[in-house]
Amino acid sequence: MLQANSASHQAKPGGDAGNHESDALGMKSAKRMEHIPFSAIRKVLEAAAAKEKLGQEVIHLEIGRPDFDTPVHIKEQAKQALDLGRVHYTSNYGILELRREIARKLDRQNGLVYDPEGEITVTVGSNEAVFMAMMALLDPGDEVLVVDPCWLHYFYCATLAGAVAVSVPARSENDFIPTMEDFRSCLSARTRMVVVNSPNNPTGAVYPESFFKELAALACEHNLLVLSDEIYEDIIYAGARHHSIAGFPGMKPRTILVNGFSKNYAMTGWRLGYAAADRELTRALIRVHQYTTVCATTFAQWGGVAALAGGRGVVDEMVAQFERRMQFVYRELGAMPGVKVIRPRGAFYFMADISSFGLDSEQMSTYLLEEAGCATVPGAGLGRYGHNYIRISYANSMAKLRVGMQRIQNALQKLAA
Ligand code: PMP
Repeated sequence: MLQANSASHQAKPGGDAGNHESDALGMKSAKRMEHIPFSAIRKVLEAAAAKEKLGQEVIHLEIGRPDFDTPVHIKEQAKQALDLGRVHYTSNYGILELRREIARKLDRQNGLVYDPEGEITVTVGSNEAVFMAMMALLDPGDEVLVVDPCWLHYFYCATLAGAVAVSVPARSENDFIPTMEDFRSCLSARTRMVVVNSPNNPTGAVYPESFFKELAALACEHNLLVLSDEIYEDIIYAGARHHSIAGFPGMKPRTILVNGFSKNYAMTGWRLGYAAADRELTRALIRVHQYTTVCATTFAQWGGVAALAGGRGVVDEMVAQFERRMQFVYRELGAMPGVKVIRPRGAFYFMADISSFGLDSEQMSTYLLEEAGCATVPGAGLGRYGHNYIRISYANSMAKLRVGMQRIQNALQKLAA
């Protein structure tokens, strides 16, 4: 169930409910599904697909996936795994070769020490790692502080676990970085976990070291778990630095570090991620994994080994392109009268404040699809604090972004006229 921390935060995060559906036989979904809506992005995708079916070109600015292909050496390793007959179940934790590479990466890049035997679990995308952590570590009624606007899976994985997600506002005045006062005002006796995601989807914020230091102190003071989603760690721009909260004093035993291969290696369809957590926490996580997915796809895991062992060259090339695109979109959106944007420090999204046009985020998103043929995500679908925004993803080619920006500019001009 979703809970606002004050009456002013009561609006429901987006997505059409369509809940508790019954079919001709009167078969109903479980009660808990009443609180699980379809995602707002799904609605946009369906409307865009309907337009494309009619032969209209849609510029996709809604999707959170790189447009690049997976680098060749990663694909080759997965193909080789198939040829070698690596087609059977693996350990629930994942193949040891991959867990070792993950442990090396965490040491090399984050200065964190995790034992590949018992502290790392390879998952079916980082999505599964989030779900697994919430199912394994939250009791019904526990409260989870989620920085909002956000990737809504945190809300609904918490809900599936019977827990209550509480929105902590990330305000544009503060570059979308929540303050400790915001966290403190959302704490209650039931607070069990905090979710942080830096670099952030959808705001592009990268939280500074001082933020993590303070949050770590707060987590220790109130005995909280921290789920740290670091999936955009590598997609970070000049001047910004990634920090992992697990490295702060007292944090390793209470942190579930989630990361994956989807964004940095353009591997969204491989469904490969991981959770790194202290042995005690992992003992709980692994049992959810054991009774759901069992293990990530074996040959995808071998691809993951090649990704981590293959150096950062391919990642750096893609990030350089994302940065160029970000700069272009920042210039374009920034020059549109009535639109307010904050320069992202990482990930590949803009939260564009469109509140001056007098349309709510869903109306604006629909207008831009109808008028400009550009698909965007309404901020109302990204939490209680997303209403004034639309999310624009620039994980698309420069050519498409050029067309998209021109079309949006024309459509907004028409609206303002
Ligand atoms: N965390 C965040 C913040 C994301 O934006 C996404 C994907 N949109 C994920 C996790 C899930 O990624 P994966 O493909 O690894 O499941």
